[in-house]
This record gives sequence, structure tokens and C-alpha cells, in this order.
Amino acid sequence: MKILVVEDEEKLARTLQRGLKEEGHAVDVALDGEEGEYLAEVNEYDLIILDVLLPKKSGITVCRELRERGINTPILMLTAKDSVEDKVRGLDAGADDYLTKPFSFEELLARVRALLRRASDVKTPVLRIADLELDPMSRRVTRAGKPIKLTSKEYALLEYMMRNPNRVLTRTRIGEHVWDMNFDPESNVIDVYISHLRAKIDRGFDKPLIHTIRGQGYMLSEEPPA
Ligand code: CA
Repeated sequence: MKILVVEDEEKLARTLQRGLKEEGHAVDVALDGEEGEYLAEVNEYDLIILDVLLPKKSGITVCRELRERGINTPILMLTAKDSVEDKVRGLDAGADDYLTKPFSFEELLARVRALLRRASDVKTPVLRIADLELDPMSRRVTRAGKPIKLTSKEYALLEYMMRNPNRVLTRTRIGEHVWDMNFDPESNVIDVYISHLRAKIDRGFDKPLIHTIRGQGYMLSEEPPA
């Protein structure tokens, strides 16, 4: 497997690189956040080990920006202290797991194995927009790591919207894809389901993801449409 280690403590970075190579992995090292993000964008890794405290760009920012660009490589975050806040921020930014420093190499290897195994089990990539995630395999939906329970129709509507982000979806299109050909575009059933979805995925979060485009339909996007 190909692994990227982003860690500014060079001694630790080299130790990880050597240890992971001994386990049979190909390992690149970046010593700051910018370089790490660049490498993660131009190469395809199976896993990224990402320190939180980094020069130039924090691990949290790197993680969030990679996720925003649709790079869904599993990320194992290294948090400097046993800080709940760091862990939560890391997971919110799209990290898959975290490890608190100092850690033993054995523990790191166990996490790496678990993440690589999990990634290879997933044949359909997880759909992700901001901190909202939908896993088509398990049909599990989470926002900021919190599980969200949806009815099967709500799930189908959300999955359709997540497969078509940042696009205006008219009621007719939604009706055809999520209901069926006989769907009556004059009915208000889509509006009703959208309001159910909003209550579940947007209520209580700072950033609403479902936007109403007046006179046209709806859009799922991280930023409100201009
Ligand atoms: Ca550091």
C-alpha cells in the first residue's frame, strides 16, 4: 500500500517511514502541511497519516481541504495532546481515525491495518459534502460524525442530491429520479420531504447544506448559491 506521512518532527517522520516500509508499504514523507496537501492531491495514496500541528498549514485544514476536493483517502490524524477538542475537530474535518501522541509503533500499525482493511471493504465510495457523509454500502448517514436516521424515501432523496451536488435540482428531476415516472410535479410531496431532510441533516448545525432556489428547485451544496 502507498502511504503518505505528514509530520514536521523529522525524526518521528523518518521512524514511521522506516517502520511502515518494513511492513511492506511504500511511504512518502512531507514535513509541512502545504507539501502534504500537494502530495495528497497529485498522488494516489491508500492512507494518509496526518499530524495536527504542522507548519504552514494545520492538519485540520489540510484534511478539510482534501475532503472538499473529493479526495477520500482514509486519514489517520495524529493529535499532540489528549485533547477532546482536537479529536472532534479532526473527525469533523473528515479524518477517519486519530491517535494521540505519544503512541507506540505497534498501536499505529494496528490503526493503519484497520483503516486499510476498512477502505478495501468499501467498494462504493462514501459520498461526502462538508461534514455530511452517506455510505451507499451500509446506507449509513452521518453529519459531523453523528448518525442520522432516515426513512427509505428520505434516504433515496438525500442520496440523489449527494450524487448531484452544487446543481439546481428541479422538482421534476427529483420526482423522476427519486419517485417514478408517474410522479406529479404539481404535488408538494418533494417540498414535504425536503423539509423532513432539513430537520434531520441541517437543524442544529451552523451551515445549512440544502438550499432553496426560488422558482426552480433545490440545491445541495456547502456554500449557499450566489
Ligand atoms: Ca507537529
